Amino acid sequence: MGHKEFMAEAVRLATESVENGWGGPFGTVITMNGDILARGQNRVLLTGDPTAHGEVEAIRKAIQILNPHAPSIAQDNNNASTLELVPRPEGSPDPLPERARMLMGCTLYTSGAPCPMCMSAIYWSRIDTVYFGADLEATRKIGFDDAFQYEDFRKPLDQRRIRIEQIHPELGAEAYNAWTSKPDNHPY
Ligand SMILES: [Zn+2]
Repeated sequence: MGHKEFMAEAVRLATESVENGWGGPFGTVITMNGDILARGQNRVLLTGDPTAHGEVEAIRKAIQILNPHAPSIAQDNNNASTLELVPRPEGSPDPLPERARMLMGCTLYTSGAPCPMCMSAIYWSRIDTVYFGADLEATRKIGFDDAFQYEDFRKPLDQRRIRIEQIHPELGAEAYNAWTSKPDNHPY
């Protein structure tokens, strides 16, 4: 299978979601070593969950497949599968020398350009490459305003659409101290 077949499968999932009334026209396929590892589709209308986007669903399924023994993984098997630590590439701006493997080596195909939430999930997943069909402008034209979030992020905090401000930084620091003072903490 190649690019076109993977994108066609993402579009099939998107169309299925629309026809069943499950959600918007968004479907996703994650591939590994040339094969489909996981699929996802928008199910916001089915679940009422605003985070039930195709990309997030596909990432969660891919992780479940690669970590069949989760959730015990954090306690018993820190170096298995997606939590295995691998060196950062030469020239990486990352301050840590190694990170968890997550979905390195995978490719994501999605029918519409990822929203910021999904794009962020893709960064956390360390997916290598993203291919999208429709762009953000086309998404905006059919009534899904993903683009405004990208625009909002560029503004200072006090001009954002959602009120966000820092309070009691000393309390936030308590949680961070719990991490930094844990001698066996496992970076990811
Ligand atoms: Zn999304």
